[in-house]
Amino acid sequence: MPILDVQDLTTYYMTARGPVRAAEGVSFQLEKGEAMGLAGESGCGKTTVALSLLKILPTNGRIVRGKIIVDGKDIVPLKESEMRKNIRWRSVSMVFQGAMNALNPLYKIGDQIVEAIKLHEPDVTRQEAKDRTGKLFEMVGLEPSRTDNYPHEFSGGMKQRALIAMSLANNPHIVIADEPGTALDVIVQAQVLRLISELKERLNLSVIMIAHDLSMIAEVCQKIAIMYAGYMVENGDIVKIFKDPLHPYTQDLIESFPSIMADKQEMVSIPGFPPDLLDPPPGCRFHPRCKYAMDICRKETPHLLEVSANHRVACHLVKRK
Ligand code: SF4
Repeated sequence: MPILDVQDLTTYYMTARGPVRAAEGVSFQLEKGEAMGLAGESGCGKTTVALSLLKILPTNGRIVRGKIIVDGKDIVPLKESEMRKNIRWRSVSMVFQGAMNALNPLYKIGDQIVEAIKLHEPDVTRQEAKDRTGKLFEMVGLEPSRTDNYPHEFSGGMKQRALIAMSLANNPHIVIADEPGTALDVIVQAQVLRLISELKERLNLSVIMIAHDLSMIAEVCQKIAIMYAGYMVENGDIVKIFKDPLHPYTQDLIESFPSIMADKQEMVSIPGFPPDLLDPPPGCRFHPRCKYAMDICRKETPHLLEVSANHRVACHLVKRK
């Protein structure tokens, strides 16, 4: 049984102008100890999927359809109190985007982690939570004595390590890392990615890594899911998809990133813009930008089909295996 089974997840943001259809019919599975990257342009629905998994959407966000089965239990119908007690941070946690701003500047970093532990595990004493925080700091490569520091006393890389420590505070099985390399220089970014990989192996964690940079995903993940305008358009084994991307959007996305392995080549930008999700185009949402668009693409939404083992694509060009 997968540790996470997302089925037909559909999340909208309700606005005065109508619903913004941010995630539509998203389905995927994650096994224990597996890492999956979630990629796509800004506004494609990656963060909406992540916030839905924790049920921490903004007040106008609604999961309108679908199931999120964590450890065999659908969490969509759960009340807020049950999410806080049993799921959030205890089963699924998140390393929030933007290491520079995600910590409260007014409190010592160690105290912020102690509070997170006690919020989700009220039976743990303050001293036990402090001891656990010291061990977490060690685990992420920080001196335990630095728990008494304030965020402004940490570099960007150290803050990112502290946020990773915080995400592990309640021993979750699944960790979502939202753009963990943002605002870090490339050397520190590589160290943070190595740390995530090491922790994944050591703790047998399942990881969802959100990134617009495909090379970051390739460092950590065995699987990748590509999102476009709220839909998951291709997912599966990362080597297969990088070698033989079948969805035209995935092909364009891969071509728009430089490769240090391939011969020198010109990078290609994807023409056009993602659609307005208040009024998305009918059929395949990629059709206004797709060089292969056919009549059927303007009328019928393609669904994810398995094209080979561990490789699914949603495109009318692609036939079932
Ligand atoms: Fe292009 Fe049609 Fe495939 Fe959409 S369904 S990606 S428009 S070929």
